[in-house]
Parts: sequence; structure tokens; C-alpha cells
Amino acid sequence: ASDKQSICRTYYSNAFGHEREIEVNYKAERNAVYDYILDILDTCDINEIKTKRKVFLNNLRKSFSKALGMTARAANDVSLWEHSYMTASIFKALLGQSILENEFPVIKDKKEIENKKPFRIFSVGWDFFDFVSRSQTIPDVVGRIKVLEEIKEEIKNRIEAEFLLGNCIYEDDFGLHFLVPAAFDDKTIIKNQILKIFNEKTNGFLIPHLNLTDDGGKLTELLPEAVRELEKKKEIDFIPKWMVDWKDGLPRKKLICNVCGKGFYCEGDKEEICRTCKEIRNKGREEIKPQTRFIDEVAWNGREYENVALVVLNFDLENWLEGLFVRCLFIRKYDEKNLQKLKDFYNSELCSSNYDINKGFIENLLNLGALKAWVDGIDEAYNGALTQVNNRIDVYNSSGDFVKSILSNIKTSLEKLRKKLEEKDRNTVRKMFEELNKDKIEEQLKAEFRKIEDYLLGSENRDEKRKIVKKSTIAEIIEKIFLKNPSPSRLMRVWNNTKDFFEDLSTSLCEGSFVIERYILGITRSFNVDGRAWEVEISAKGKKERGEIVFDGNNGITVTPHINRFIEENKDVELKIKVTDRDWEEAENEFSVKKFKEKRSVRGYRTISVSPNMFIFLVPASKIIDFIIALKSKYIEQFGKVYGKLPLNVGVVYFKRKTPFFTVLDSARRFIGCFKVQKDLVKEIHDIKGSKISTDIGIIELPYKLGDGEIDYYHPYLIVEEGGIALKETRVKHVLSLENWEKIKIHPSFFDFEYLDTTVRRFDIVLGEDKKRTHPIVGNKGPRPYLLEDVDKFERLKEIFERIGSWTPIRDIEALAASKRQEWSEKGELGDRKAIYEELIDSALENKLRRFFDDKNWGNNV
Ligand SMILES: [Zn+2]
Repeated sequence: ASDKQSICRTYYSNAFGHEREIEVNYKAERNAVYDYILDILDTCDINEIKTKRKVFLNNLRKSFSKALGMTARAANDVSLWEHSYMTASIFKALLGQSILENEFPVIKDKKEIENKKPFRIFSVGWDFFDFVSRSQTIPDVVGRIKVLEEIKEEIKNRIEAEFLLGNCIYEDDFGLHFLVPAAFDDKTIIKNQILKIFNEKTNGFLIPHLNLTDDGGKLTELLPEAVRELEKKKEIDFIPKWMVDWKDGLPRKKLICNVCGKGFYCEGDKEEICRTCKEIRNKGREEIKPQTRFIDEVAWNGREYENVALVVLNFDLENWLEGLFVRCLFIRKYDEKNLQKLKDFYNSELCSSNYDINKGFIENLLNLGALKAWVDGIDEAYNGALTQVNNRIDVYNSSGDFVKSILSNIKTSLEKLRKKLEEKDRNTVRKMFEELNKDKIEEQLKAEFRKIEDYLLGSENRDEKRKIVKKSTIAEIIEKIFLKNPSPSRLMRVWNNTKDFFEDLSTSLCEGSFVIERYILGITRSFNVDGRAWEVEISAKGKKERGEIVFDGNNGITVTPHINRFIEENKDVELKIKVTDRDWEEAENEFSVKKFKEKRSVRGYRTISVSPNMFIFLVPASKIIDFIIALKSKYIEQFGKVYGKLPLNVGVVYFKRKTPFFTVLDSARRFIGCFKVQKDLVKEIHDIKGSKISTDIGIIELPYKLGDGEIDYYHPYLIVEEGGIALKETRVKHVLSLENWEKIKIHPSFFDFEYLDTTVRRFDIVLGEDKKRTHPIVGNKGPRPYLLEDVDKFERLKEIFERIGSWTPIRDIEALAASKRQEWSEKGELGDRKAIYEELIDSALENKLRRFFDDKNWGNNV
């Protein structure tokens, strides 16, 4: 790092260069940390230590995440938490290696790590979507996510605290990865324990996959290998408990569970669900305020039920896990011209073996003792002086190109001096002689190169860096000195940042969603039924309204907001509730409302799951376009400096609130599959205005400033086809030095949606040969998935999405367009009929959609 920060104004960067000012009370945080430590030391109870460790780490994370590991730019991108956690995890694995190898210390120096390969990664994974999509309701899926969290905690507890093997260094929805000693190879005991956890927590519905990598010394090699191997879902000898359970004889006939399709319920049970699924569902019913757990409350917009959207966001982290894109960011300001100059200096006669100015060479070039004698008035010294000046010019002429270029003015002076000497112009010669003072010139040269060294190399390990600059190629120098190092803590920061981004989005989505009211009705009876919503009929003075209610003791809580209006209108008369639900088992099913107690509010929003690479949530359909536009600008703000290197994909599944939930979740899985097939795009720049870059995928405006407003020379570099700075694997160019017609290379972010009008529609979410989704009208050449940049175009469609509230007309038009196109192209007529075809589509749109826009000129909206 080269840029020290002032102590009173320190900026904290994310792993991608987005800076914000630090506001932290160090003393308070320090004291808090001391308190946790004292608490641990005070209780020496070995049984408590495991729980305390968890609490301690949690608190430490909160405190240390606020502080920096290093304040100088651009190393201000790693917090003290990542730095400490990864250092401790490496130490733990090395200590384990020492014990297993009976050698202490196993590693004497950091440099030995690469050769000795003391690490492995032990991973535990599972099929997330297979498990999670076996859900009929929000509580089913939320419960499954909770069970996954519990499984993760249990496994961590075993590996980190009981077996002391190593720490979890990366986790997402699909698995856990532990850094363990290379000498660890017998995983039988641990494997059995892990299988047991899966059987206990999920009845064996979820099958674990295990993997142990080869020995290694580099996280950037081990971790991507671990993730890739886990994706292969290798079979293990696991006997799921549910299979065994089917063998036990029971008096009543066993029937297969409607939710998981694995467990069973017994003939005659009201609910067609197995015990495990029932337990999971109950787990998912625990409220996470203020989010709702009822799809009807997500769909309610204050006036009516609209469609719901399940959104799946996903970051492609692969190139970051393997460090490639970290090595495209700069840790020191880079200046190619000065680096070349410094390198040439080190390799020239002008530089001594200890990287100083070579006194001997300066002596040879500028020792003008005889000349001095003549200047001082000794006439006999004249011939000697002339010879000396000629010799000095010879020294210059026989030196290398670098010296020639850097000392060209000295040559000019020497030649002028010779001329004046020949003219015996003693006064001018004296002046010139004084200017050619070798000590002064040596001093100046020294100052010049020290300044370049200070700027380019900094003060840390300068001699080592000097050696690198002298001996290596420019690309190697950049790699070794100027680029960020994908250190374990920096990698951890990458996925902590993407996860934080999703968590912040979740908070702001929830805050921005509709406030939904629940009416709490005091009823004449108290029921001990579970927390599901029951179908009821509320009546007053002969009028009726159907809806759903949750029973909690002697409260009835409305969870279908439309019935609130009915209750409001009949506040002053007696309300009666009749439970019409077919699963209702209580003897009594009709009772009165004693009084209207209060209103409670929740939000029409639900997070399904958040991890570093994936975020799934539910919102009303009308919120989507605004959300995606806001998302895009937040994404550019926080990740824009690594534009084209950290794709964020967005998949939206629109569905009616009664649509079977598993088809919705299955659609999300299919989107993730589609987004995985990345294709690099090469785009030509048409126009640049400041940081606004215009290409044929639209105008992108990228951030390029540090927190204090100065230009950031560390992060905002785009990958270019030619020119720029040549790195080992790619070429990059600073965003402000891009030029028209240059070609930038990007890993695109995709955006796609599907209307789930039928449950089989989800099978359309699949890529065709061209890595594009087959389009009903244009076939394989279709635009889907769209680029995230295109989302602005959809803003104009927003009104249609909102007003129609249903997509049947859009489907009709698609079908018409597809059939006409097929009909005509079979006859080879499409070419001639293109105009007619367009007109037909136009009139179909007019016909189908105009009624939603009354007097407005809707055409401008399409
Ligand atoms: Zn089940």
C-alpha cells in the first residue's frame, strides 16, 4: 500500500474499491473485546467453552469488522475481522499438522507453505434446491432453510470445537468448507458423525456429500477445487433414516408424504404430511418480524391481491475465489513510465550494486581536476584539461542508452565546455565548471531516483522490491509489487461483502414494502391448534366474507387482508366466525368474536435465503421493476469499480398466489442453472464523456473516486482486448484512460423473468444451443436471458405489468405471434410480410392491452 490515510479521516473500502468513512469508537470496542475475553477466562468450565467460543467469535466479528487490518490505501479493503479470523484459521490448521506429523513447528517461514503443502480443504455439501423446493408453503421453505442452518452449526461445532480439525473458511447455501491439516485423511469417524446429523435433522431427506482436496499451500487453488468437487455430488454410502422407517410395521396403512415424497403419514390422518415435514413446517412458522410468512400478505397491495414474484439474485464468485480478479486490482499506484525508468536505472552503469548512485561512474564522467587547475589560472594545465574534457565526452558516448538519455544535458554541457575551452574563454568555462559539480549532480540524481522509489516501491521491503524490479519483466513486476494479493483474508472479505450487500438489500426491501395489517379478534373460545392459517367464513347481519385466520389461544388473527375491510365495516355488530377448513379437527367450529382487540402490522415481504452468492426473496409483482432499477444503481455504486468482473444475475418468477410453491422454487433453481453458463462479451466503446462509457449495450457510468473525492488509481480498471497494462492473465485499463473504439471485455450480468401461468411453464427456463433461451417468436436467437443493462428498457413496460395484474394477454400475443411467424416462414414468406407481421402484432397489442389504459395513449408505454 502506498497511500497513508489521515488518522482523523479514515476510509474503509470494500473488496472492490467502494469506500466509506470509518466511524468507530475504538475504546468502546476494545473494552467490549476485553470483557468477552475476561468472561471466557473467568469460567474454566470445559463444558461451557464450546458455547462461549461461539458467542465470543460472534461478538469479536461485530467489533473487529468495524476496524481496518491496515489503514494505508489500497490495503484498507480488509477488516481486522477477516485478517484475524484467517490468520487464526491458518494457525489452527498448521498446529494440527504439527501434532499429526509430530514436528514442531511444521512451517518455519511463510515461504515454506507453498512447498510443504500443509493444508487440505474438507467440505460438506448438499443439494440445496432439491431439499428446499420440496415445499408447499413459505413455512416449509423457511423451515428447511432453518434446518440447514442448524446442520451447519452442528457440523461446525464438531469440526471446529470438538475435533479441533480446523475452521470453516467459506460457506454458502450449498456447503461448508474447512481448512484442515494435510495429514488429516481418515475421515471415517467424522463422516459417521456428519451422516448422523443429517439423519437426525432431516430424517435423511437431505443427503450429504463430502470431499477432501489434495494437499496444497494456496487457498486460491484449494478452495475453487473444493467448490467444484462438491458440485459433482459424489455418492456416499448413506442410509437415509426414512428408508429404514418404511420397514417398521404399523397398524395403519402408510401413505407417502405429500410434501417430501419420502416420509409417510398414516391412512386416516387429516393432514397428508409426514412427521419430519410437519416439524420442519412448524419451525418455519416462527415469526421473523416484521416479515410475513403468508403468501397472501405478500400479494396484498392495500386494494387487492396481485401476483407475487420470487426473485433469485446470484453473484458469480468463481473468478474471485481463485484470486484471478483480485489480481486485477492495484495495491500501489502504478506508473509504467517511471517503473521503466527505475528498472533501466537499476540495470545501468549509473546504479551501484546497492542501488545507490555509482560513485565510480560519476567520478569517471565528471572528474575535471585538470580543468579546475586551468580555471584557477595555471596555464600549463590547458592541454591536460582539454584531453580530460574529451575523455569525459568519450565516457558519455561509450555508456548505455539509458545513461545517454538521462544525462544528455551533461553531454551538451561538456561539449559546450569544450568549445569555450578551445576559445580559452576562462570566465564562461569557470561558470560551467561550477555547474558541473559532481557532488551536486550526484545528489540531484540520487534525489530523483529516491523519489521514484518512494512513490513506486514504498518503504516496506524495499531491497526485495528493488531486486524484483531489476531482474523481472514488467508483467512480473506488476504482479509481484503492484497488484493486490489474493490473501486468505482478502478472499474472505470478497464473500463477506457480497453477503453484506444481499443483507442490506433485504433490509431495504422489507422497509420499502407494503405495510400489511393483521386484525386481532378476541374470540369466545381458546384453541390449541398449530400456527397455520385456517379457512373461515366471517359473518355479520347475514353478510359473509371468506378468508383465513391464525388461532393463538383465544385470539383470531387475520392473515388474508381483504377480510379486514369486512371487519371494519361491521365493527359495531356481532361478528361470527365459522371454520370451514377441511383439516379442522376441533369439535366446535362456530363461535363469536368477543371484541376487536388491536391491529398489528407486518410487511408484505419475505426473505427466503441469503448467502454470499445467492439471495432469494418474495415481493409483490408490482415492486419488481422499481426494485431491479434500484438494485442496478446500488450494484454499480458498490461494485461498479470491478465492472464486468463480478456479474450479478437476476431471475424473476411471477406467479399467482395459489400456484404450487414447489414449481416456483424449481423455477429459481432453473434460473441459477441458466446463469451459470457465462459467455464473455466483447464490446466496442462508441463514446466516452468523463466516466460515462457508451457501448451498444447502453451507457454505463462507473465510479472512479475514492471516499475523499480523489481519483482512485487502484480499482476502476476494465479488462481490454488490446493495449492497457499487460497483466499475467489479462490486460486492464483505467476507466478514465479508455478511448473511443477500444474494446472492453465483460462477464455480463443477466436479467430474466418467467410468468408461471402454468406449472409446466418452468420447463421453459432452460438454455438452448446458443446459450440463449428459446423464444416463442424468435427461437434460438432470442434475447433471453437479457443483459442487466437492458433493464432500463423494461421501465417503460412497468405500467403494463402493474395495470394488467395478469399476463394472459401477453401470453396470447406471444402465442399469436409465434404461430403466425411459423405459418409464414414455412411458406417462406416472412421476408415479404415482415411489415404486415409487425402490424399484426401491433394491432394485437392494441386490442389486448388498450382497455387497461383507458384514454391514455398506451402505445408510448410499450
Ligand atoms: Zn414429508
